[in-house]
This record gives sequence, structure tokens and C-alpha cells, in this order.
Amino acid sequence: MEARPEPTPGPGQIRLRVEACGVCRTDLHVVDGELPDPKLPIIPGHEIVGRVEAAGDGVALAIGARVGAPWLGHTCGHCRYCRSAQENLCDAPLFTGYTRDGGFSTHAIADAAYAFALGETLDPVATAPLLCAGLIGWRSLKAAGDGEAIGLYGFGAAAHIVAQVCRWQGRRVFAFTRPGDSAGQAFARSMGAEWAGGSDEAPPAHLDAAILFAPVGGLVPAALAAVRKGGRVVCGGIHMSDIPAFPYRLLWEERSVVSVANLTRADGEEFLALAPRVPVRTTTRAYPLDMANEALDDLRSGRIEGAAVLVP
Ligand SMILES: [Zn+2]
Ligand SMILES: [Zn+2]
Repeated sequence: MEARPEPTPGPGQIRLRVEACGVCRTDLHVVDGELPDPKLPIIPGHEIVGRVEAAGDGVALAIGARVGAPWLGHTCGHCRYCRSAQENLCDAPLFTGYTRDGGFSTHAIADAAYAFALGETLDPVATAPLLCAGLIGWRSLKAAGDGEAIGLYGFGAAAHIVAQVCRWQGRRVFAFTRPGDSAGQAFARSMGAEWAGGSDEAPPAHLDAAILFAPVGGLVPAALAAVRKGGRVVCGGIHMSDIPAFPYRLLWEERSVVSVANLTRADGEEFLALAPRVPVRTTTRAYPLDMANEALDDLRSGRIEGAAVLVP
């Protein structure tokens, strides 16, 4: 922990007093040096729920308003991706907690135009995981298509949210955990999975699509083997260990593998409007800010059910 002067928001920016900040697997990848070109030193954290405490020129948000600051912190607005509704792929973005300081802190700077308005009555701890696990989970689910049987590999923060959305949409959920993780499998069943097993097991039915949240490349061929003809495998994480070589017959018959990168503001608006209708109920474990390292260690070792959230 260290003390710094409170940051001053520039034009279009706000300073947030952080109420809660979720701990995402991407924070682990940042801390472990697995992602290229971070700002250093960096304050991680990109699932920020906070109150506007100060605003720069040109900001319409009221002082005291509650907002959420997600991973996508800024985009250039003029590259080919920004101009074609793919701002998630912007050529010159800023990412909260990676290339701009994030929310493992008492205060954080955000661009007002990339923050989401949040309700006064919601619980900051319960809401924080929606801002990445929820948003990326939602974008991944859209990429999976509208098939009925969805496999979720890695049943952590994102999957426990996506499972609830799938059930609400009338889909079937099949959950894959680390082999032998019977507590994780029971948790998945409690979130609506009709089957939960180890990632080395075959599900009892063909999947229409599978979403990989676990950063394990070996799961790509496993998931391809589990999806039906024409099925889709969506890689939802920012980093993954190498994908091993696999026989072409696993990809044959028009199966596909795609990745999901970042989020657009439209994803956020969609999901944050949908979450209370489901309603999504997050399972969280709150840690005081000075236990950030313990929270990261617990996430790394799979000791957390649902999502870890830091509370300054
Ligand atoms: Zn751009
Ligand atoms: Zn994240």
C-alpha cells in the first residue's frame, strides 16, 4: 500500500471514489506479467463501482453520481474499428488497470464517456463483477450464437453470471471445472447447470457452443470435441496457454473457434439493462483493499466461489 496525491481529472474525465472493485482473471495476467506493454507501475482493477467526486471540463455527470468504470477506458474515435461499431478493437485504446491506473485504490480516474450510470440502491460489492465478468461474459454469449446447449469451461466469476443468463433465456448449461473440483461442480449446479463435470469429461449431450473462460489452451480441442457439427467454441479470455496441435477432424464439419476481445459501450449498456431483469445474483467474497494480494492468490489457486471484490 502507498499513499499518493488524489488524482486530478482532465477534460472529459472524472475522479471516482472507489466503493468496490472486482478482481478479474485479467488482473492476474497483468500482475503476472503475461500481457504486453502495461503501464508501469500500474494499479490493477477494472470492475470499479464508485462515486463521482470531481469532474473535468465538459463532463455532464453530477458530483456524487454512482457509476461503473469497466476495462475499456478510452478509444480514439477515428480508427477504422471505432468508425464501424467495433470500438473494442480500437487501434489506440486505454484499458483500465492495464494501460491506465485502475480501481485497486481509493480513487481512480475514468473517462466520463466510458463510464456507465449505476443505480443508487444497488450493492456496490454485488455489482462490481458485472463490470467485466458480466460484460465479457455477455459478449462471449452473443458470440456463441443462439444455440440451446451451452458449455462453460472454467466456472468462475464470468461463468456463474453467464449460467444465470442462459437459464433465463431458456438454454441448457453444461459446466466444466478442474477435474475433481466437486465443490466447483456443486456450485455450478446451484447456478443452474444441468450437468457439471471435469474438463476431461465428455458432456452427456452434444453442445451447440462452448465458451472457454479458463486460460488453458488444451481446452480448445476438448471443447471442439464436445460441440456438434457447425458448433462454435468461443475463447473469452485475454490470455491463454498455447493451444496444442489437434487433428483436423475436430474442426471439420464447420466447427469454428473464435475469440472475444474487450467490450464495446453498447455491450455494457445492453448487459447492465438485462442483468436486473434476469435477475443476475452474483456470489462474491469481499476483501479489504490491503488484502488485494491475498484476493489475487485465492483467485489463482481457485479458492474463490464466484468473484472476489476489494472494498477500500
Ligand atoms: Zn479507435
Ligand atoms: Zn476483467
